Amino acid sequence: MNALPPHPPAVRTTCPYCGVGCGVLAAPDGHGGATIAGDPAHPANSGLLCSKGSALAETLSLDRRLLHPMLRRPDGSLVRAGWDRALEKVAGGLRTILERDGPGAIAFYLSGQLLTEDYYVANKLMKGFLGSANVDTNSRLCMASSVAGHRRAFGADVVPGTYRDIDEADLIVLVGSNAAWCHPVLYRRMMTAKRERGTKLVVIDPRRTATAADADLFLPIAPGMDTALFCGLLANLADALALDYGYIDAHTAGFVEALARAREIAPDVASTARATKLDQADIARFFELFRKTERVVTCFSQGVNQSAQGTDKVNAIINVHLATGRIGRPGMGPFSLTGQPNAMGGREVGGLANQLAAHMGFAPAEEDRVRRFWNAPRMATHEGLKAVDLFEAIERGKIKALWVMATNPAVSLPRAGPMRAALKKLELFAVSENVLSNDTIEAGAQVLLPAASWGEKDGTVTNSERRISRQRAFLPLPGEARPDWWIVSEVARRLGFAAAFDYSGPADVFREHAALSAFENNGERDFDIGALASLPNTGYDALDPVMWPARAGESRGERRFFAAGEFYTRDRRARFVAPERPRPRAGTTEVYPLRLNTGRLRDQWHTMTRTGASPRLCAHSPEPFIEIHPADAKAMKLTDGDFAKVTTQLGSAILKVAVTAGQQRGSIFAPIHWSDATAAYARIGELVAPANDPYSGQPELKATPAHVEPAEFAYRGFALTRHPIALPSGTWFARVAVAKGEGLLFATNEPPDFWQDFGATLTTDEHELAEYVDPPRGLVRVAAFRSGQLDACIFVGPAKTPPQWDAVRSLFEAGVVAERDRRILLSGRSSDGLAETGPVICACYSVGLAAIRKAIATGEAASVADIGRTLRAGTNCGSCVAELRTIIEDMAKIAETRADAKPSAVPVSA
Ligand code: SF4
Repeated sequence: MNALPPHPPAVRTTCPYCGVGCGVLAAPDGHGGATIAGDPAHPANSGLLCSKGSALAETLSLDRRLLHPMLRRPDGSLVRAGWDRALEKVAGGLRTILERDGPGAIAFYLSGQLLTEDYYVANKLMKGFLGSANVDTNSRLCMASSVAGHRRAFGADVVPGTYRDIDEADLIVLVGSNAAWCHPVLYRRMMTAKRERGTKLVVIDPRRTATAADADLFLPIAPGMDTALFCGLLANLADALALDYGYIDAHTAGFVEALARAREIAPDVASTARATKLDQADIARFFELFRKTERVVTCFSQGVNQSAQGTDKVNAIINVHLATGRIGRPGMGPFSLTGQPNAMGGREVGGLANQLAAHMGFAPAEEDRVRRFWNAPRMATHEGLKAVDLFEAIERGKIKALWVMATNPAVSLPRAGPMRAALKKLELFAVSENVLSNDTIEAGAQVLLPAASWGEKDGTVTNSERRISRQRAFLPLPGEARPDWWIVSEVARRLGFAAAFDYSGPADVFREHAALSAFENNGERDFDIGALASLPNTGYDALDPVMWPARAGESRGERRFFAAGEFYTRDRRARFVAPERPRPRAGTTEVYPLRLNTGRLRDQWHTMTRTGASPRLCAHSPEPFIEIHPADAKAMKLTDGDFAKVTTQLGSAILKVAVTAGQQRGSIFAPIHWSDATAAYARIGELVAPANDPYSGQPELKATPAHVEPAEFAYRGFALTRHPIALPSGTWFARVAVAKGEGLLFATNEPPDFWQDFGATLTTDEHELAEYVDPPRGLVRVAAFRSGQLDACIFVGPAKTPPQWDAVRSLFEAGVVAERDRRILLSGRSSDGLAETGPVICACYSVGLAAIRKAIATGEAASVADIGRTLRAGTNCGSCVAELRTIIEDMAKIAETRADAKPSAVPVSA
């Protein structure tokens, strides 16, 4: 008997999605796939993964990968090229434009998805050798207000606390953060603290999100009014003599001015309530909780950052922690939750246009220090253009060369339409990418450089608590893909800088980065990982997660900042900041009466280039939608499940309608994930106005005035195919990954016979065709079978009674379809075996909404624990637990309403 081949050992790596930075064990299967599990030894997650992390194995396919360098021909087509030609094209283009137009005419646009080593090399080339600081990153859309707030208050971009503080807090305040969906594993740590030590949770958010469902106190604040709430809190703490004057006197400056400003903005509970539109009693309760609880952690995220006044919001939060001395000690402090896996690493190497490397800025002494360390011939001497300004400079023709790495700005930038059009003006437009096609490539990229993806690349990332972890390769480099640090170094060599970019691997880059952090750093700079500057290659390969600072000669471990002051300002004192009075958001008008808020979903990431490949993840929210309050929906004549056209001054989109009381009146919410590659008419970036924060340059992504009206379609349908297909132009659609193929959910005004003809194009002579067509009822069902399997199909029906997507998808995924099911399939009837599951709530065990509702309705389940026992939902990664709770509450409310509606059995007078 042959012995089974040994299982390859699992590789310890790090999740490529959010800033929690969970450790992952990836065991390659030898066929390009891997088994994925949480790493029990990683301090960020202790073995837990959320739905996105758990589904990573479904995203490793090479199907849509860019595997070779490509060049665009004059006729617009892309042709394969060798690495030499592609690199020379980039280097030659940069050289020509630099010599002719100067360093201000070139730019790089980077990403929080890059590894620190990639980021470092790109930043070094641009700022030290090409002489431009026009290097910005998609972190500008995500974290820039936190960076600016930290630098104003602390003199450095440092998160003072650690995740352990969340475990040890007695009160956690979440501001503008749907952590249950966007930082799920950290959120589970919050829930554990709640359960085990009674930690209270206050959630401050204009939307009643999944996170709000777990709150002890939910404050549905008016959009943009966080500064008023925290000014009110500061004034209240001062009035109640609850401030730590010892800390204020010893370690801070600017308190008197900040308190005076807070009193101007929100002197008491009543004025705070007026500004925030919150209930006075709720505000009083929040203030009291904060006042009486020593161990408070205030976590904030995109709801705070993505704002035209984001930096002031961050400082208003930091002010209350400085004023109470609740910073840098166990269980307390302000805590910025980073969005991306390596937003923090990008900040460490100076990936933002207003920073130099190793947390240094453009002060002459710092610029000189970096110049000497790099032996840089052409050092940038001043800040470069921040993301929105940078793309506007392309629009004006000022920037002529752009190199985009690992991001999709044609989708994610505000005012994405004109920004995308501007890319066509570039003389040199290079893109380092994993995928063969995305909206940015389609905007006219001339050079495509195939970059290594997660699982193939090797380096480090830093999470929200300053912990540096290794991302390790566990798969071979496919095709001609190469790591980003290598690609940039090769361009640098061709520009004549071979000696400065002579890296043999990421360990070389990391050692240099660590050495720069410690260079002439006698404790004046927060970021110091000098202890890692002489790691041998073996030590780098084996590096365990390590938190910075990691100074040479000091013991390593978890370190908090600022319990005893020692800030990174000139006088080592923190700065209170007197914030501007919060302005009402960009004015709504009669034409645009609503405010468009944007954000993320639980199971998707950015523009879906990775998560969009996972059938499990796509089953949660398969179509782009807007959430709207029931009263607004009624006023706008919108019905749940129908379509709406959302229009702003910049453009329009067509989205499914989700009516929910969790949305405030006057606001609508749309997810950011869909692009032209994954849907029609659903690019939300195109609708968003770019109002930037004056300090951080971060654009306001949460308050664009908008108009909503019904969008009518006569028919709805879906197609399921083994390979991607395109629907006729003008069709509204959303692409959905399904097992063994792809689905398209669509809406149309084309008549049934049109779709019957289209269905015929999906079949070949090898197919056994089955059709059911009923024109008077608007029904078309075309199914093509091969070897007993459903190989392709298209179903169309009247928009009010659309065909059953879930049931047919199950048959498509299942393999051989029994004769009985074929008949059911075409008849359009359901049966037990073909029941609609509804959207998948538990991605781990594929449990749909219908099954959960049924378990509750039949009395099988009355709690989240019951649902776990009967259906297993919520018992693995836990990402859906908050949603399960909401479903139970919603069904209880419906039951109550029905009971109230019934005539009372006993006369009221009795
Ligand atoms: S919380 Fe989820 S997405 Fe974030 S790092 Fe962990 S597994 Fe990845």
